[in-house]
Formats: sequence, C-alpha cells, structure tokens
Amino acid sequence: MIIILQPQLGEDAPETANILEYFRATPAITPKLHQVVGAQQVLTEIYLLGDTSKLDRAQIESLPGVSHVVKVSRPYAVVGRHVEDSRGAGFTYNGVTFNQNNLNIFAGPCAVDTIEHVEQMMKAVAEAGLQCTRMGAYKPRTNPYSFQGYGAKCLPWVFELAGKYGIKVIAMEITHDAHIEEINHALTQAGHPTGVMLQVGTRNTQNFELLKACGRQHKHPILLKRGFGITLDESLNAAEYLASEGNHQVIFCLRGMKTNLGEPHRNFVDFSHVPVLKRMTHMPVCIDPSHSVGTRERAPDGILDLCHATAQGIIAGANMVLVDFHPQPARALVDGPQALTVAELQYYLEDIDIARNAYVKRKTCAARQAKRQSTATATTTVATTKPAVKK
Ligand code: PEP
Ligand code: MN
Repeated sequence: MIIILQPQLGEDAPETANILEYFRATPAITPKLHQVVGAQQVLTEIYLLGDTSKLDRAQIESLPGVSHVVKVSRPYAVVGRHVEDSRGAGFTYNGVTFNQNNLNIFAGPCAVDTIEHVEQMMKAVAEAGLQCTRMGAYKPRTNPYSFQGYGAKCLPWVFELAGKYGIKVIAMEITHDAHIEEINHALTQAGHPTGVMLQVGTRNTQNFELLKACGRQHKHPILLKRGFGITLDESLNAAEYLASEGNHQVIFCLRGMKTNLGEPHRNFVDFSHVPVLKRMTHMPVCIDPSHSVGTRERAPDGILDLCHATAQGIIAGANMVLVDFHPQPARALVDGPQALTVAELQYYLEDIDIARNAYVKRKTCAARQAKRQSTATATTTVATTKPAVKK
C-alpha cells in the first residue's frame, strides 16, 4: 500500500511524522518514507510494507495530510503501475526530461578510445541537435584479456569535451559501486560540465549490491538493462531494488535476449515488450538496437537490420534509444561491427522521425476509436434504459 501525502507536505512536516508514528505502532507493518522529485513538484510518499490486507483504506485516507492511497497490485511497489494508480511518472535531469511520452536519443561509442574520436562524436551529436550521448569508460567483457575500458583515467577529458559541445547527459555503464565515486569526483573536478546517467548492464541486472549502491545515490538517474537470460519479472524486481533505495529516476532498457546461439542477430530483439513495460510500470522505456541486433546486415529493401529494429521499438512507443556510433567503427576497441558511422547519424535520425510520427498518428487513431466506442456504448445504454412509450 502506498500513501501519497498532500503535495505541500515534506519529509519534516508534523503530519508526515504523525502518520509514520501511527504505522510504526501498527503490528506487522513497516512504513518507509520516500520523496519523489517530479518535474512539477516534490511528493512525499509512505510505503507500507508487510501484511496490509487488514488495513482500512478509507480510514487511512481520512488521516490528516493524506492525499490518497494506492493499493499495490504488483510485486514492484514503487516502479509498478497499480490499479487506480494516478502517480505521476518521469523526471528531469540536468535539463533533459524523461517520461513515457517523449523520446531521447543517446548516440555514441560503446567504449571511449581516443580524444579525437570522442570529440568527433560529441561534435556530430551536437550538430544533429541532440543533447545526450553514450560513452563507456568501464566495460564488462566476456574475455578477461579483452579491453576493459580506460576507467577513471578518461573521465576528465570526456566530461570536458561534453561541456564544450553542450552535451547534457552521458549514459555510462558502471560495474562497481566505486565507479560512482570516481564519476562524482571527476564531475566535481571538471566543474559539472555535463550529467551522467549510470548504466547497469545486462550482466549486472541481478548484482544486488550494485543495484542497492546505485539506488542509494539520488544524484544520477539510472538506466537498467534487462537481464539477457532471466525472466522479465526478475528484471523488474531489479528495477524495484533501485527504486526501493529511494532513486525513482529509473529507465528500463530492452537490449534483446540470448537465444539461437546468436543467429541471425546477436540477441533476440524484444522491442514488442515496449508497450508491455509501459502498461506494467511507470518507467520510461529505452531500446538498445545495437546490442540486440549486433550486426550491420541489411535487408533486401536496403535498410539495415539495426534501423528496422529501431523503427520497431519507436513505432511501439519507445522513450529512449541507446545506440552505438563510432567515427571509425573498424578501429573501435569494443563492438565496432555493430556501430553506425558518424556519416549515418543524420539518416538514422530521419528514419527515427518517420517511425515516431507514425507512432503519434497511431496514438491519435486509437484515441478516435476509443471515442467512437464510448459514444456507441453510451447510445446503446440510453436506448436500452429508455422506458417504453405507452400507446
Ligand atoms: C553496453 O551498452 O555497452 C553494454 C555492454 O550493454 P549490455 O549490458 O546490454 O550488454
Ligand atoms: Mn557494447
């Protein structure tokens, strides 16, 4: 059960303290306080953990300071979308808004390599009118002898270049909680020229200590990759780990599932789950076509599988795209074969635009149909409830 307090009530308000005290004294219930920083307002919520079946909703709603109560109907209390759940969703980080309605593109190299390549990429991203990029400094690799990323060493110049080109958010994978400190230190040293979205990769979706560490810090939003070999339910529980530690700025990323020994794509593209996640949760949904498709194969229609997969996610309502680009894919230190080139960026964005416009039209079409249906239902109800005229 989630108690939503009236908007003006903060964590320190006497009403908040009274409600907490009341539930601390209630047997088998543990109240947990959460502050939700939204685009418009800061909301205080109290999560009631334990056996809530005997609690009286109406009585709770009559307590001073309570706005309303949401009954938790899914195991993911914070990130889940529950019955009669009107909690707002989305957040703004470093001037960029993320929610279930808009779309942000994060194009960039899988792994940071040279200053020249990073600068070329940042410049291209800025010239294309984008505000975000992806850059890996810490790379989890299958083979221990593979390049593991330049780590903290490259952060000063990566952040400085991001500032130079007006990049607002860099999605950056971390594989250890110490990396959060390293990123914070480098951002402070550089004078905060940009923002970082912490990325938890598919190999770490169930690294619970890393999830808790990411959730405990409330500075950076988190991009959580779906685990490639676990159930959706398990991945959503991972998202709940982040949110239950108080960080509600979580984006869920589909990146394909392991199957068929990597053929014909590196992973089985799972972007048909975009609407499923939007229905089940409040999280903005990201797609990663690069790690799903993993090749630059082209269909007979001349369109790259990567672009086809992206369009499939966008036309289904995706809110973010994480995609590998590199100025010289042949020289990339990680995942070159799946990277698009800087020269292809404009074309890629145009293709996304086509799919996004189609999605917007599909939404309008569905709204028209819903209106026609409700008018038809209302007419039928009036016709069947009208008393028969006596002759
Ligand atoms: C990545 O985005 O660079 C990456 C390693 O992705 P994933 O965790 O989805 O494999
Ligand atoms: Mn990669």
